[in-house]
Amino acid sequence: MSKPLVLVLNSGSSSLKFALVEAQTGDAVVSGIGECFGLDNACIAWKGEGIDKQEVILQSGDNHHQQAVDIIVSLIEKEHLGSDLCAVGHRVVHGGEHFSQATLIDDSVIEKIESLSSLAPLHNPSHVVGIRAAISAFPHLPQVAVFDTAFHQTMPAKAYTYAISQKLYRDFGIRRYGFHGTSHYFVSREAAKQLDKVPEQTNVITVHLGNGASVCAVKNGKSVDTSMGFTPIAGLMMGTRCGDLDPSIPEFLQKQGWTPEQIHKELNGNSGLLGVSELTSDCRGICEAAGEGHKGAQLALELFSYRVAKYIASYMVALDEVDAIVFTGGIGENSLPVRHLIMMNLRVFGYREDVEANEKARFGQPGMISQQGTPMALVIPTNEEFVIASEALRFTMQ
Ligand code: ADP
Repeated sequence: MSKPLVLVLNSGSSSLKFALVEAQTGDAVVSGIGECFGLDNACIAWKGEGIDKQEVILQSGDNHHQQAVDIIVSLIEKEHLGSDLCAVGHRVVHGGEHFSQATLIDDSVIEKIESLSSLAPLHNPSHVVGIRAAISAFPHLPQVAVFDTAFHQTMPAKAYTYAISQKLYRDFGIRRYGFHGTSHYFVSREAAKQLDKVPEQTNVITVHLGNGASVCAVKNGKSVDTSMGFTPIAGLMMGTRCGDLDPSIPEFLQKQGWTPEQIHKELNGNSGLLGVSELTSDCRGICEAAGEGHKGAQLALELFSYRVAKYIASYMVALDEVDAIVFTGGIGENSLPVRHLIMMNLRVFGYREDVEANEKARFGQPGMISQQGTPMALVIPTNEEFVIASEALRFTMQ
C-alpha cells in the first residue's frame, strides 16, 4: 500500500463531517460536510486536491447519514482511492470513564457508546448512526472510535471531582470529563517537538479557542486538568455557550417560569460572544465591530480574553513548571486581538508578546509569539483528523 488512507468521520445529529486523511502525514486528500440532515435541504459537499468542489442534494427521507456514507463510498471508488483505504476512524464525543484510549469498534463498544448517551444526548446517538452506516459500507475495514474525553482520563480526583455529595458521582457519574482531548493531545505533542523534549517531560498549558473553547494543563504529557466539565458548556466563555456560571442562575430562571429546555437553549445557544455582544458569535465579526467602537463587541472581546487568561493563570497551579502556553483552534490560530489581550492579561507572569511574530503566526502558520527570554507562548494549528487517522492506523498493524 503506497499511502495508507483513513476515512475520518465526525457524525452529528444533523450533519456528518468527513475527511480522507493520509494517516502518516495528516494531509487531507478530500474533506467535506453533510448538513441539514432530516430536512428537505439536506446536502453533502466536498473538495480536495485535484478533486472538483461538488455538492449533492440528498433525497428526502430519514436515512441521510446512510445516504451521505454511500456518496462517500462512490467518491472513493470514483477517485480510485479504495485500495489505499485501510481504516475508518470515528470521532466520539463522550467515552465516560470507560474509554481512556482509542478503541476498535465491535458490538459491545457500540452498546457502551449508546449507554453513555445520557451524558452526551446530542452527540453519542448520532455517532452510533454514523458508525453503523460506516460498518455497512466498509464491513472489511477496522472501525476505530477516538474519544474527545479519553485524553483527560488521566486527571487526578482533585481535578475531576465536583464539591458535591459523592453519591451524585456514584449514582449518575457527575464529574468533570473534559472535551477537545484529541486537540489538546495533538498540540501538546507538537509543542514537545518544538521544545525538543519528550512528551513525558513536557509541561504546557494548551488553549483551544474555537466556537467551543477549553484550556488544558498538560503535565509530563498527561492531562491533569481541563476547563470543560461534565458537559462542554463549562469553563471558558465560547461562541454561544456561557462557560462557568453561578449554579443558582438556572434555578433562578426556572423560578421566573423558564422551562429547562429554554434555559438549556439560552445558556448553550444564546450566550457567550453572541449573548454579550448582542451581535454575533463569530470572533472575526466581534473583533471588527469592537474596532469600530461597538460597545457590546468590546465587552465580549475583553471578557473572553480575560477569562482565558484567568484559566491559564489557574493552571500554573496544576503544573510545577510551564514550558509554554500553546494557542490553537480557529480563534487561537488566527485572532491577533484575542492573543494580544490574553498576553497582556498574563503580564504579571512575565509574558510579553512579540508583535511581529504574533502577526506572522496565522492562517495555518505556527510560531512563537512571545519575546525571546520571556515565558514562551506558541501558536500551533491543531489537526484532530490526523490524531484520529493515526490512532485508527495502529489497529491495521495489529
Ligand atoms: P469549531 O469549534 O466550530 O471547530 P473553529 O476552530 O473553526 O470552530 O473556530 C471558529 C472561530 O474561529 C470563529 O469564532 C471564527 O471567527 C474564528 N476565526 C477563524 N478565522 C479567524 C481569523 N482570521 N481571525 C479571527 N478569528 C477567526
